[in-house]
Amino acid sequence: MQAFLALVDISDESALAWQERALCAQTDPEAFFPEKGGSTREAKRVCQSCEVRAECLEYALANDERFGIWGGLSERERRKLRRRAV
Ligand code: SF4
Repeated sequence: MQAFLALVDISDESALAWQERALCAQTDPEAFFPEKGGSTREAKRVCQSCEVRAECLEYALANDERFGIWGGLSERERRKLRRRAV
């Protein structure tokens, strides 16, 4: 969650309500923003059990988040998803 707070506009409280239930808030935020080529496995594993995964992914797609794991998907996977949706 700390990682999120650094990236999002915290003035928009309704858009952030789901983040109060973000499972990654209880884990190492660095796992969600690995170095280039670093492992995303641990972050994705956490996302699998997260109850706000759909909201998280939706937020990342809507805000064109370029870095990190959001909703269980990497930046590259989100790009692919976006291309399929067009
Ligand atoms: S889906 Fe993953 S990145 Fe999104 S809030 Fe849940 S744990 Fe965090």
